[in-house]
Amino acid sequence: MPHSHTALRPIQELPDELISQIAAGEVVERPASVVRELVDNALDAQASQITVRLNAGGIRLIAVEDDGSGIPQTELVLALRRHATSKIHSLEDLEHVDTMGFRGEALAAIASVADVSIASRTDTQKNAMQLHAHSGELAPVARTVGSTVEVREIFFNTPARRKFLKSEATELAHCVEAVRRHALARPDVGFTIWHNGKLVQQWRAAPGLLFADAQQQRILDVLGNDFMQSSRNITDTETKNSDEQPAYTIGPMRISGRIGLPDAARTRSDLQFCYVNGRYVRDKLIGHAVRTAYADVLHGHKQPVYVLFIEIDPALVDVNVHPTKIEVRFRDPGSVHQAVVKALQMTLAQHRHDTPATGLSEPVPNVFSPSTPAFAQVRQTPLPQNTSAPPLNARNASGLHRLYPQQKPLHLGNALGIAEVRALWSNSSASTESVPGVNVPDASPPSTGEWPLGKALAQLSGIYILAENAQGLVIVDMHAAHERITYERLKTQLEARALEVQPLLIPASFAATPLEIATTENHHELLQRLGIELTVLSDKALAIRSMPALLNAAEPVELARSLLAELAQHNTTELLEQQRNEVLSTMACHGSVRANRQLSLEEMNALLRLMEATERSDQCNHGRPTWRQITVRELDHLFMRGR
Ligand code: ADP
Ligand code: MG
Repeated sequence: MPHSHTALRPIQELPDELISQIAAGEVVERPASVVRELVDNALDAQASQITVRLNAGGIRLIAVEDDGSGIPQTELVLALRRHATSKIHSLEDLEHVDTMGFRGEALAAIASVADVSIASRTDTQKNAMQLHAHSGELAPVARTVGSTVEVREIFFNTPARRKFLKSEATELAHCVEAVRRHALARPDVGFTIWHNGKLVQQWRAAPGLLFADAQQQRILDVLGNDFMQSSRNITDTETKNSDEQPAYTIGPMRISGRIGLPDAARTRSDLQFCYVNGRYVRDKLIGHAVRTAYADVLHGHKQPVYVLFIEIDPALVDVNVHPTKIEVRFRDPGSVHQAVVKALQMTLAQHRHDTPATGLSEPVPNVFSPSTPAFAQVRQTPLPQNTSAPPLNARNASGLHRLYPQQKPLHLGNALGIAEVRALWSNSSASTESVPGVNVPDASPPSTGEWPLGKALAQLSGIYILAENAQGLVIVDMHAAHERITYERLKTQLEARALEVQPLLIPASFAATPLEIATTENHHELLQRLGIELTVLSDKALAIRSMPALLNAAEPVELARSLLAELAQHNTTELLEQQRNEVLSTMACHGSVRANRQLSLEEMNALLRLMEATERSDQCNHGRPTWRQITVRELDHLFMRGR
């Protein structure tokens, strides 16, 4: 047995090179990790301009050039050594880290899995020196003050890890994302990214601007106008109308940045940027605090968008808990949690009280619709007289409002009309044969309560269908129900390889991120199988040309975006069954009737019959129930009617 042999080997100290390679496993996951570490170093060296050059998605070359302090010739060799750093010297320093790096292991780790050279010049040196890590060769080169670190052929000596790399487009997208994270936090520094000799991104520093203004400008440059329009500065009431940078300050903590309005929430967490003392972090505690703040205005599976900067006394946070420093530990997690919740809630509340007179350009809805950007505002204020829907407070009382998702804007022409229900209805007759024991029901409204889900009585609040069956009252969440039906039908069609695809009359083009474009390229066939035809128009734009006929109520661009976000999470182009189901449920959500859609009794009955004919229709895809029964007995109990 080969295994018993290995057990008998004597204990040995590992060679240095191997130690670094093992450490590299934690620090260097892919080219983007190298980009992050090198940009960290450039920022620590006080650079004001950082240029990142990549070849083949960073797999062949990553070069990061800065105009920072440079490394003295005599220290070049040290820079590449494990646990060699200029940033801390004592345990006490470790407790007040104000640099991005401090562990002194990044360059050593990178040099153990790639071909590295450093060229650097300080302002006291006449010329720059270049050190080649592997050969140890040191030679003069021409360059101005600052450093250039070149990393070639990542994982060349660890083929197993090289195999884990994705396509060039995907790796490039991750590299760009790594720089973007830095760029958001450092508006005082200019960033430029080149790929295969072409300029990919440029974020200019805006010298002369106040930091707060530069920050707004940078957020606009990096995240775009859509984000600016649909987000607000974090403020507390005191700073709202002052000239100070808007922020929420409490004790040793200051929270600033921009948070998205509820309506801007997305299916994925791809627009969530959180920084602690300028360091990009992923922190469960902060994530939880954010969700708590949004709990009232966002359905659970929607992800808010935000750029959050938390400044805190460095002594109150431990940054040395993770090799890549992406996690932090707070000395007093409770107060951080509380502060974040408070800051966000205050900001969201102020937005609710905003009127157009405050200068915020927001449409004021003239009819009630939970889909309008001012949804949150409507919830707080009495409804206009001309609406038939009751105030949402009525629902708040029961807590049921959490059962329906935050709505997207309604699109004219997307109504679930009688014709559509009928079409859905007649289509269903084909598939119901595969459901044992289910007969194709009669589309005409039943006159008795003998249907399992009963006979429709009315629609409540634009959201619920009320029906009466033998047991009593049936309440149906019509969006959830429709979603489930669409989902099952998508699945059936897909499994039967009979997905009905509908070309769009006018292909919809839209601005796309590098990651979205990479995902389109990687998953092209899969998308096609899902009935979505996406074409790459340029390195910044995509067009959607077709989608499943079942989803004709969906907004094509939104559908494409959330599908891409979903697929970007999956490494392989083949989806496992469960993943595929998640993707289908995302699609179904987009294709389903929105709340606040007036249905006729006939349409309601049709929906009830479809539900009965659809497998598992008592739970929507997000695990929410699609209907509830309230028995006459329960009603009696409610009214203390002793029967
Ligand atoms: P750390 O950043 O944790 O100190 P690194 O391995 O990333 O460890 O870098 C080692 C040292 O090399 C740094 O402490 C710094 O002194 C020096 N160094 C690395 N990159 C640069 C740079 N771009 N400009 C100036 N000094 C650098
Ligand atoms: Mg470093």
